Amino acid sequence: MTRVFSGMQPSGDPHLGNLLGAWVNWVAMQDDAECIYCVVDLHAMTSPAEHDPATLRQRTVELATGMLAVGVDPERSILFVQSHLSEHAECTWLFNCVAGFGELRKQPQFKEKSEGRGESVSVGLFDYPVLQTADILLYAADEVPVGEDQRHHIELARDIGQRFNHRFGEVFTLPKAVHPEAGSRVMDLQDPTRKMSKSQSSEKGIVRLLDDPKKIEKKFRSAVTDSATDIRHDRDDKPGVSNLLEILAGATGDPIDKLAATYDGGGYGPFKQAVADAVVERLRPFQDRYRELEADPGEVAALLERGAERARAIAAPTLERAKQAMGLLPPG
Ligand code: ATP
Ligand code: MG
Repeated sequence: MTRVFSGMQPSGDPHLGNLLGAWVNWVAMQDDAECIYCVVDLHAMTSPAEHDPATLRQRTVELATGMLAVGVDPERSILFVQSHLSEHAECTWLFNCVAGFGELRKQPQFKEKSEGRGESVSVGLFDYPVLQTADILLYAADEVPVGEDQRHHIELARDIGQRFNHRFGEVFTLPKAVHPEAGSRVMDLQDPTRKMSKSQSSEKGIVRLLDDPKKIEKKFRSAVTDSATDIRHDRDDKPGVSNLLEILAGATGDPIDKLAATYDGGGYGPFKQAVADAVVERLRPFQDRYRELEADPGEVAALLERGAERARAIAAPTLERAKQAMGLLPPG
């Protein structure tokens, strides 16, 4: 059976990009794959500006609750918190000794997130994709459902795994990235040339999954559009409108072409209203389920504890094999 691994950082409130670019796929894949989903709290520590200990703890619980609310089924899938297993950090060290400085420095996400931070940027941010490589390879994942923004990181994970296997023997399975069709890159509503991001989007640029309907409508009303009033899909020429079309397609399941034909000629006002309405409808069941789960934090904690046990049963033996392959002396 295909094995799937994916993670999300508790680096802020989950948004429409996380839902359409990742979670929709996470839920669907449970039907025919063995799925392992993780709240990657160690990754969320890589940006000092966002690393407030109490906030990190709270967001970790909230993100796990969000994953359950969206439909991650803790019976069929493994859901856990990255730092509950020391294997991820330990395997990162092994891969640090295989990964190259040059290939990490080139990573687009590192470039983007380190921009303007000069020498103060953390080694953790630089090493982020190596930790991600450990996350994925420890579970021998075949597929990693992610948004387009993670494409380079998955390629790097393959390269590191391949280099390891070549040098030390076949230990790791090489993963491949899988992207949903619509929504694999949801852009910021205020700056449609940048992706919507938990940690980098402005309040007006991000649609949070727990935003109330009024707020959602307001954000779409003030979304940046493009000069002419035609409604068509062209990311280069019409990034704002194309983003809204993709969001509408992701929320309704209708093809982009059909939606463009329906709304073209009607002006931006009604089109934006339709996008807002579709998103509100799409989020309603998620928000209801989230409120129910939120009322029972003990249950969420118990599910995460069980998830960590099941994850360790897979990760620990893989790590052991990697250590031995590299020549580390087994204890005892
Ligand atoms: P951060 O700003 O802290 O990096 P993020 O919003 O980028 O947060 P991540 O936790 O880094 O979210 O990514 C979780 C998943 O969501 C990944 O699979 C990523 O590809 C996907 N994702 C993130 N942002 C978007 C987006 N704007 N459109 C589509 N998918 C996205
Ligand atoms: Mg990100």
